[in-house]
Amino acid sequence: MRSVRVAVYAMFVMAMTAGGQEKPNVEELKRQTIAAIDARQVFTQQMVDQIFSYAELGFQEFETSKYLTGVLEKNGFKIERGVAGIPTAWIATYGSGKPVIAFITDIDCIPRASQKPGVAYHEPIIEGAPGHGEGHNTGSAVNVTAALALRELMEKYKIAGTLKIFPGIAEELLGSKAYYVRAGLFQDVDIVLGVHVSDSFETGYGQHFAPQGLVSVQYQFHGRAAHAASAPWDGRSALDAVELMDTGWNFRREHLRLQQRSHYVIVNGGDQPNVVPSEAAVWYYFREIDYPHIKELYELGNTMAEAATMMTGTTVTRKVVGEAWPPNFSKVVAEVQQKEIERVGMPQWSEADQTLAKALQKEIGQPVEGLKVKVEELKAPSPATEQGGSDDVGDISWNVPMVYLQYPANIPHTPGHSWVDAVAEATPIAHKGSTAGAKVQALTALDYLLSPELVQQAHEYFVNVQTKDVKYVPLIGPEDQPAIELNREKMAKFLPEMKKYYYDPAKYKTYLEQLGITYPTVKGNNP
Ligand SMILES: [Zn+2]
Repeated sequence: MRSVRVAVYAMFVMAMTAGGQEKPNVEELKRQTIAAIDARQVFTQQMVDQIFSYAELGFQEFETSKYLTGVLEKNGFKIERGVAGIPTAWIATYGSGKPVIAFITDIDCIPRASQKPGVAYHEPIIEGAPGHGEGHNTGSAVNVTAALALRELMEKYKIAGTLKIFPGIAEELLGSKAYYVRAGLFQDVDIVLGVHVSDSFETGYGQHFAPQGLVSVQYQFHGRAAHAASAPWDGRSALDAVELMDTGWNFRREHLRLQQRSHYVIVNGGDQPNVVPSEAAVWYYFREIDYPHIKELYELGNTMAEAATMMTGTTVTRKVVGEAWPPNFSKVVAEVQQKEIERVGMPQWSEADQTLAKALQKEIGQPVEGLKVKVEELKAPSPATEQGGSDDVGDISWNVPMVYLQYPANIPHTPGHSWVDAVAEATPIAHKGSTAGAKVQALTALDYLLSPELVQQAHEYFVNVQTKDVKYVPLIGPEDQPAIELNREKMAKFLPEMKKYYYDPAKYKTYLEQLGITYPTVKGNNP
């Protein structure tokens, strides 16, 4: 027995020295990983700035995807484009064999959030244009930097395993992940490490982040057109149906569970007042904290829509345009990741960073506290009546052991989904936060690349605890298709003007420099 072991060990050492350098111990490997990421700070900064300048809405992330796949391809990743029936979606793969570790992060932006970075008050680059008012431009810098550093080490020391990088397409529309899952893109994946921008450095388990799930659905009402003055009795107004549905929902809202959130926008209200609207449409998000309640809320919405048709003599059709399961992140993977967060620690903020942060907080009437300086403790699931929001990574988390790292690349107390959240996103705050995030991402991946036991532990916890009682059932039907037509016109309208502002790293060190912005630009001198 003993001699067999010795022989196996000898073969292992021979394999190591034949194929690559002998592998140092884990601590030394981690030290080298951190050094490899520090060496890529300029690369990380350029990626943050580049994607910030593209600012593309969900399903229209063409420039961003072209850029990212180009960088990854140049660095030895194999690219598969147009996955899951989504033109801007792709998978980048490096390495071979087990374990398979996937990185994912969103790449889309927010309507009307155009904002000059580093300026602590509202000043759009282009009035009304989309902008990274959530900071999704930083996530790919985190993932790609981490992946390139890991690739370097895997090659040098012949570390087995596969890295896969996914973009979160149209996350703001909850538009893609259920389709990724349906297309089987995670079937061979062992661990998914997602990242999302934040003002804090943290991870957690269960429903600790964006704790709700939802169905996003458009109701199209169909009536009959008529002259609104000379023959109104011949018309049947689709807009009446929209208004009555909304009125009904707003009365019923009082009697719904506190855990729900629901909201709508009227996407088509007719053409002009003297034509009885034959077509009108309203778009609803129905959010709740578990699958049965999401279904219940959605069915109530359908009932209201039907009821509105009865009141108005119209008909209704509906189209699901997005969905998300509430998240279910892995406790055992989060515990591994937490140690890496504590190892890396918060970025060193400069006085200029703090000045920008405080000036922005003052500008929007929030506590003037500046940037966070301490990492958070491991986050347990949070009560969903306090926190709202959804993220369609939830669907992935019910299919593969997954965690969602939040890295500190934004200013605390911002409202989310607005120009305010874009202010820091192409400044040193975002650059340093992304470097810190990349370190944790790479170190966590390394933990799993080096330890089959940890992979096994995550798998067992997933089967025996995480998904023991609740099984994933997609909220999309078999006929539903990704709503890839969304945002097409909105993006086309701004694209020609936006192209003039694309970041050119060959000419300018930073996007701030290209735009001629003094960092930080604040009202008065003293925030
Ligand atoms: Zn997001």
